Amino acid sequence: MKAQDHSKYDVIISGAGPVGLFLACELALAKCSVLVLEKAENPHSPLKQLPFGIRGLSAPTIETLYRRDLLKDLEIHKRLKNPHQHAKQGAQRQVGHFAGIPFLEGDVDTSQWEYRLPASTPASLISEMQELETVLVRRAEALGVEIRRGLPITNFQQTTDGVTVQSGDQSFQAKWLVGCDGARSAVRKMGGFEFAGTEPEFTGYTTQVDIADPEKLKPGRIVTPTGMYMQSQPGYVVIQDFDGGAFHSSEKPITLEHVQEMLRRVSDTDVTITALHAATTWTDRARQATTYRNGRVLLAGDAAHIHAPLGGQGLNLGLGDAMNLGWKLAATIQNKAPEGLLDSYYTERHPIGVQVLDWSRAQVAIMKPDPGSRALNAIIRDLMNTRDGATYFAGRVWGINTGYDLGREHPLIGRSVPNFELENGTTIGDLMHDGKGVLLDFDSNASLKTLASEYDDQIKYISGNAKDQLGLSAILIRPDGIIAWAVDKDADSSELQKAAAQWFAFEKAIRH
Ligand SMILES: Cc1cc2nc3c(=O)[nH]c(=O)nc-3n(C[C@H](O)[C@H](O)[C@H](O)COP(=O)(O)OP(=O)(O)OC[C@H]3O[C@@H](n4cnc5c(N)ncnc54)[C@H](O)[C@@H]3O)c2cc1C
Repeated sequence: MKAQDHSKYDVIISGAGPVGLFLACELALAKCSVLVLEKAENPHSPLKQLPFGIRGLSAPTIETLYRRDLLKDLEIHKRLKNPHQHAKQGAQRQVGHFAGIPFLEGDVDTSQWEYRLPASTPASLISEMQELETVLVRRAEALGVEIRRGLPITNFQQTTDGVTVQSGDQSFQAKWLVGCDGARSAVRKMGGFEFAGTEPEFTGYTTQVDIADPEKLKPGRIVTPTGMYMQSQPGYVVIQDFDGGAFHSSEKPITLEHVQEMLRRVSDTDVTITALHAATTWTDRARQATTYRNGRVLLAGDAAHIHAPLGGQGLNLGLGDAMNLGWKLAATIQNKAPEGLLDSYYTERHPIGVQVLDWSRAQVAIMKPDPGSRALNAIIRDLMNTRDGATYFAGRVWGINTGYDLGREHPLIGRSVPNFELENGTTIGDLMHDGKGVLLDFDSNASLKTLASEYDDQIKYISGNAKDQLGLSAILIRPDGIIAWAVDKDADSSELQKAAAQWFAFEKAIRH
């Protein structure tokens, strides 16, 4: 006899990884009831702790965490800025890489990035998966999210009204199901989503080892004729072996002998490993779901896209999905969604996923141990050694120019809002903690105030001068921090009505 949970949730999320947890926070912030079902009994894993669990956060993620007042809870970045180059300081500090080719802080010309304000959050930070998940669990539970562990989703059925989800002999009901259950997503597989893409070129290894003669390995990230190795700190070695991904897919155990053989071959040394404490493998398989929605079932994070972790983009991509989806799904559930709002999750996020997958493929293409790749690698290295080159690569790695094509005139539309600071010290980040839209009116225009009031609690109207207004008169900011509309001083503001109606439901039209 099946145990049935008779409460009907607004949303069930499969997977309590960072993406599922952040999405749960966003939905609960918008007053949706959320159940998260997680396969693992125990949220703690050595693979989520330093150095295995180290993750680079890019500008959109940092802004997202800041806007929801979570950034201050992440302690790790305060004591660990860049473990790969901890010996170097200032302009010579490595702040990212492309295919293992580093770019240095002093080479990046941030003045080329339009509309970034000096008071903005950092463009990149280091975090740890374990800490990030702990912070997100705390927030989710404070917002009323139910997280149940040791319950993998094993099946589901959807109707036009909702979804019934099974975990073994238990069953749960919700209006919507979101698969945030990682690269091998059960929701994606059972939901009939096509997962299209390319096969891997290599197996990557992240290992914790004791080495008898570590001086035989060069410091830093070393690209060799057969692959790549990096000793990120004593005893922690990352290896990339161009075996077509064979070892990873064989699911064979990772033994000391195997790791030693890999490392000797890739480093062309006779280095000796005396103990293997922990190891994991990964590949550059690059695949993406061709749609992110099937009826009442959606995908986000690694469930929707996978690629090589080179340059660290997957978590950032997934958190971006969650920030984009949360408010749209909540508005849909609460009958506050204008036509097409939920579909814009796919049309906005899929192209960003395409860019990230191609970025990882491009890196692999110039790391391969063949003459053509080596020749291209040398050219890219030269370009990265120029100021414009370093600035371009940093801009891509840090997601500075990430934005959506919202088909409007002003260059800020579709971009992340700069962190304006009002004269009373309030910043945009402060205004976005509650996940509402914001109409920021620098010119105290009465007609804009009236318009905002027609959207009731969906749009907060804020008027006042900012310390630096970047020549703007007013901007409309979506709950995810993306600018829906912007107008310069003395320009025509009549388009605001149209922009507001595209993202928010006119209060009188809301079906209760
Ligand atoms: C070596 C390495 C380094 C990386 N470095 C970076 C980096 O620097 N920056 C970056 O942005 N990204 C990086 N990534 C990628 C990043 O870790 C992932 O993109 C990110 O963890 C994806 O989060 P997620 O929540 O979508 O999936 P996951 O973190 O995989 O979480 C999925 C969750 O779903 C659960 N689950 C699975 N099946 C089920 C089921 N049937 N039912 C219920 N629950 C289920 C799992 O137990 C898990 O808790 C790296 C990855 C690797 C391997």
